[in-house]
Amino acid sequence: MRKQIVAGNWKMNNDLSQTQMLLKELKSKMLPEEVRIMVAPAYTNLYQAYETLRDHKVEVIAQNMHQSDKGAFTGEVSAAMLRSVGVKTVILGHSERRAYFNEDNSVLSEKVNTALENEMEIIFCFGEELTDRKAGNHYDVVKKQLEEGLFHISEENWKHVILAYEPVWAIGTGETATPEQAQQMHHFIRETLSENYTKKIADSVSILYGGSVKPDNAREIFSKPDVDGGLIGGAALDSESFMEIINAFE
Ligand code: PEP
Repeated sequence: MRKQIVAGNWKMNNDLSQTQMLLKELKSKMLPEEVRIMVAPAYTNLYQAYETLRDHKVEVIAQNMHQSDKGAFTGEVSAAMLRSVGVKTVILGHSERRAYFNEDNSVLSEKVNTALENEMEIIFCFGEELTDRKAGNHYDVVKKQLEEGLFHISEENWKHVILAYEPVWAIGTGETATPEQAQQMHHFIRETLSENYTKKIADSVSILYGGSVKPDNAREIFSKPDVDGGLIGGAALDSESFMEIINAFE
C-alpha cells in the first residue's frame, strides 16, 4: 500500500519563534492517523523543531543538503549534520535549487547517493518548465530528470525514495496543473518506473504533486489514482490551510 503524504516546504520563511509558533499550532490539531505529515523548516530551526516534535507524528525534514560528506564548502550542510539533529528525510532537486543554485541532474545524482549512504529518505523533485509544456516536451524532460538524477539507484533503495512532480510553471504562481494533467504525468512516471525497474516498485512508490496546492484544489488533485499527496509551499505556512490540505484525502 502506498502511503499518503503531505509535506510542507517552508523555504526561507519563519525565524525560530515563528517556527515554534507554527509547530505549536500543528501540534494542537487532530491529525489523521493514515497520512504521513512532514515539515521542512530552515536549517537554523531544524534542531529546535525536532525537539519540539519529538515523539509527535509530524516529521521534521530538510530542504536540501550538500553532496560531500564534509570539507571546505562554506555555507553548506552535510547529510551527517542533518542526521545529528534528528533529520531522516531530505528534499532534493527542488526547482528553486535547480534554477537559482545551478543544481543539475549530475549534482543531484551525487546528492542522491550521499543521502542513501547516510541512510536518509529522499523526496526527489522534478518537473518541466512552461516552455517545455508548451512545446509538448514535458514527458521527455521529466524522463531525463529521472533517468539522469535517480535511475542509477538499486531496486532495494526505492523504499527510501518519494517522488514529487512539480511543474515549474505551477510553483508559487497560483497556477495549478489541472487534476487531469497531474494524473497523466503521475501515470507516465509510474510507467517509466515500471520500464526501468519493476511494476512492483512502480506501484509502491509514493508520487506527490506540488505546485500551488491550496485547500480549494487539494481534494480533487489528491483524488486522482496516481497522486499520493502533495509537496506544499505557500499554503504550508498557515496552519489552517495546511490542515485543510492534510484532511483533503477521500
Ligand atoms: C514548492 O515549493 O514545492 C511548492 C509547491 O510551492 P507552492 O505550493 O507555493 O506552489
